[in-house]
Amino acid sequence: MSGVTDDGTPVAVLPLEYCGTCDRCLAGETAQCRTAMAHMYGLASDGGMADTMVVREDTVVPLPDGLDVRDASLVEPLAVALHAANRAGLRGGQRVAVIGAGSIGLLCAAIARDFGCDVAIAARHPAQYAAAEALGASLGPGGAYDVVFEAAGSATAFAQASDLCDRGGTIALVSTSWRPVSISFMAAQLKEVTLVPAIVYGHCHGDREFDTAAQILARHPEIPSAVITHRFPLDDAADAFRVAADRAAGAIKVVLEP
Ligand SMILES: [Zn+2]
Repeated sequence: MSGVTDDGTPVAVLPLEYCGTCDRCLAGETAQCRTAMAHMYGLASDGGMADTMVVREDTVVPLPDGLDVRDASLVEPLAVALHAANRAGLRGGQRVAVIGAGSIGLLCAAIARDFGCDVAIAARHPAQYAAAEALGASLGPGGAYDVVFEAAGSATAFAQASDLCDRGGTIALVSTSWRPVSISFMAAQLKEVTLVPAIVYGHCHGDREFDTAAQILARHPEIPSAVITHRFPLDDAADAFRVAADRAAGAIKVVLEP
């Protein structure tokens, strides 16, 4: 979520409260803070869909110049993609594949492009093809890749990620699947692929990834124009959810605006 404070400052809200004092926080691994998930806005307490919500002051992040508050709800999912890239040790010049072209998959592609990587993405729907191309990614990955982002959350996607990952490469598991998924270890095992699960965002080299994601988004106006396919006023929220549920009809990211 994003908005404007009483003094007119445009901000995005980081929906996790790190404690800053547990062993994981002190180790710099704030995504693994032992109490953060118990304080996640929108899951453990009211979030952006509530009439009002109370947030800790340090979760209110002023936007960098160049980032429109209307686009700033993308800071959060972009931070998810950035955290997965950092966890995977992504470096410029690497060959990257992304499996799945929902908003998280597309934002992983956008992050990899910002890092200076060639990116190919597996997409399903025409709106996703157009968004991938607008982000500078090619379609239809083939061959061997240094880093593969699995952003679909299915057994088929994991098998495809294993096939596409080069020997000694890395698969970043960034999808969320609430149900168990049956996968074969064999392709990943034979190539000694490193599997890197990633959840939310934290710090990398002392920088808060949410802040870095806001800076990246400010540098790349093509990201919101590619990924935000629909905008609705709050009064039409029911329509917004109906559209957001229909990927085949062209929805990627749907934004509600006051
Ligand atoms: Zn902590």
